Amino acid sequence: MVAKMDLHPAQVMHSIRLGREEAVLNSNSIWLCIGCETCSARCPQQVEPAAVMTAARLLAWQKGIQPKVKEISIYYKGFVSNMRLNGKIHDASIAGITQLRTGQLMGNLPLAWKLFTKGRLKSPPLPLGGGRFRRIYKRALAVEKSAPKK
Ligand code: SF4
Repeated sequence: MVAKMDLHPAQVMHSIRLGREEAVLNSNSIWLCIGCETCSARCPQQVEPAAVMTAARLLAWQKGIQPKVKEISIYYKGFVSNMRLNGKIHDASIAGITQLRTGQLMGNLPLAWKLFTKGRLKSPPLPLGGGRFRRIYKRALAVEKSAPKK
């Protein structure tokens, strides 16, 4: 992903050390990071850039900073909605909703059809299993609300 990032992971870490919070939170890097953890596994200083990227995304979200990669924020919202509904992820639903909301659905229909005919697209689960996740989610929101603001 680094080829598309406006700050490389090492630059993100260095920017944080320099207190350049705005530069990090407004970068596209924190949204393009796919959390593969290669950087964390290979870091000679035992730094965890992948966790930092996740934390930066959450902070940007909490501060109301518009994500620099709108497809990814739409994907995340779809991910949470999917969990709330089903209690588990149905990849094809999230991908379909993301593509619909970003205007890319029509262009990807041939690929979706190909996957479907090869049996690679599973039908979505019945929306019955999300109760437990919704309770956990609600509790997490309450904890977050009651936490002291920094
Ligand atoms: S986890 Fe690290 S190596 Fe993987 S995409 Fe994110 S910054 Fe890059």
